[in-house]
Amino acid sequence: MKIGFYPGSFDPITFGHLDIVERGAKLFDKLYVAVSANPNKTTMFSAKERLDLVKEVVKDIKNVEVFQATKLTVEHCRDLHATHILRGLRAVTDYDYEFQLTNFNRQIASDIDTVFLMTEGKYSYLSSSSVRELALFGGDVSPFVPESVKIAIDKKIANR
Ligand code: ADP
Repeated sequence: MKIGFYPGSFDPITFGHLDIVERGAKLFDKLYVAVSANPNKTTMFSAKERLDLVKEVVKDIKNVEVFQATKLTVEHCRDLHATHILRGLRAVTDYDYEFQLTNFNRQIASDIDTVFLMTEGKYSYLSSSSVRELALFGGDVSPFVPESVKIAIDKKIANR
């Protein structure tokens, strides 16, 4: 059984992330999606809110399981018997960061490899941060995020 592990902040989950999950679910028998809970990072949505949104969005993909990350990615991989970390690549601008992260993980766990899926062209300019910014300025986020996420964003903005 091939097990993959897709970590991220998902603040919030976008169609770009979903594309990676759907394609990753075809590559692996089981794909874990780990929502980070980095308390040092300022996020629009709390860890619990991000977790619930990811769960809702991927609920129909049978071999995907979502949970809150509580430790290092490679430690989770060991616990779950995941052999591969899955990451998405948009433009060359992602490369430096992902290169550093991959090599760091490789240093601490040489047996766990990272695989990359290149985003679909239409999502290559899509990031959680641009969705957040668009929302803050009253723009329509519906082309970029699933309906449940749009509702959550609208609520967040209305309560500000
Ligand atoms: P992190 O804080 O770990 O970068 P993100 O939630 O921003 O978390 O991203 C998680 C992963 O999803 C990263 O590998 C990122 O490159 C990828 N990703 C984000 N947006 C897209 C997109 N539009 N298309 C493909 N991959 C994406």
